[in-house]
Amino acid sequence: MTTPLVEMDGDEMTRILWKMIKDELLLPYIDLKTEYYDLGLEHRNETDDQVTIDSAEATKKYGVAVKCATITPNAARMTEYHLKEMWKSPNGTIRAALDGTVFRAPIIVKGIEPCVKNWEKPITLARHAYGDVYKNTEIKVPGAGKAELVFTAADGTQIRETIHEFAGPGILQGIHNTDKSIASFARACFNYALDTKQDLWFATKDTISKKYDHNFKDIFQEIYDAEYKEKFESAGIEYFYTLIDDAVARVMKAKGGFIWACKNYDGDVMSDMVSSAFGSLAMMTSVLVSPDGVYEYEAAHGTVQRHYYKHLAGEETSTNSVATIFAWTGALRKRGELDGNKELMSFADQLEKATIQTIEEGKMTKDLALITSMKDVTVLNSEDFIKEIRKTLEAC
Ligand code: NAP
Ligand code: MG
Repeated sequence: MTTPLVEMDGDEMTRILWKMIKDELLLPYIDLKTEYYDLGLEHRNETDDQVTIDSAEATKKYGVAVKCATITPNAARMTEYHLKEMWKSPNGTIRAALDGTVFRAPIIVKGIEPCVKNWEKPITLARHAYGDVYKNTEIKVPGAGKAELVFTAADGTQIRETIHEFAGPGILQGIHNTDKSIASFARACFNYALDTKQDLWFATKDTISKKYDHNFKDIFQEIYDAEYKEKFESAGIEYFYTLIDDAVARVMKAKGGFIWACKNYDGDVMSDMVSSAFGSLAMMTSVLVSPDGVYEYEAAHGTVQRHYYKHLAGEETSTNSVATIFAWTGALRKRGELDGNKELMSFADQLEKATIQTIEEGKMTKDLALITSMKDVTVLNSEDFIKEIRKTLEAC
């Protein structure tokens, strides 16, 4: 390796897996160079969360990061970790710094078949991670009255629309998005489609939401026509816009092998549907891509707290490390690609192959054993599964 990866360590069971993966699957085979940031909750607390900000800045500098799952503090964590403050979600902080789009793709293995039997290839979900209902303002309307939507421009002029004349109690919600954020979402999706040579689907409810959702559709189309049309044509891939209802119906009948771009809420909900239909959250990779080509790789799942408490109690765990391994291989491959380091890219390919092969040979963790169609599988504990992957890798 010539350029370091930004390594963001994390919490609980995934922190345990993180070390095992490095010790067993990375350090013996590559000259691993990383700039290490400890995003474990204790260290975030010690540094007043400065470490998270520093790690995001380092990611912008080096271009590629790999992140372990981290705790997003809530009231229970305040007491558990004696926190000075209820620190923000590291993912939120990193996402805001990189202004990115989150892409989630399932890892496909023979023997772990998707519930939707025509899904032969992965479906990658691209989720816009800014605005809409996630940054809303709500009012619980107490009784009769008039609700208006008012925009006051910098020069004081106003645009005013009546929302509803309430005859009795009800509810109100104000949401927004910005052209800037939508445009960077669009570019991130177009770039990712070109990068992975897959078609891009995008869908909203523009027939009902003639200004809000229509604006998303228009921005995507303008950027596509001006900047990407020719590139897509020469790569032999397609950009396809349709109504969200139509997209949902088509996804169910499709073979997979495309990227499905979704607005924030649609992406939140649909990514859980797609990942559970493909098998398991522990088999889902996640990458945050910024419009200027910065990449942050992670597993889609959390810190697997329940398993960690078992581990602390000295009990055996069978936690699936596949998505975390693929976060590393994704980051190593991208680093190799950016540095022209073919050996590093091919190591990433080999490690992924060995991981999949291990499962396909019937050696897996408990979560997969519960859903596999394979007979007579061997259920391994967290550590033995990683050691088994190492054996497969050595034999490759
Ligand atoms: P979780 O860690 O994803 O785990 C939820 C459940 O899913 C587990 O209890 C386990 O089920 C199963 N599971 C998830 N990953 C697995 C794996 N690799 N192998 C086997 N089973 C797996 O979600 P959570 O328990 O809701 O959250 C725990 C902590 O993670 C929270 O503090 C949350 O803030 C944080 N979190 C972080 C991120 C991130 O950093 N990106 C994302 C989500 C959540 P069983 O217990 O039934 O075996
Ligand atoms: Mg969700």
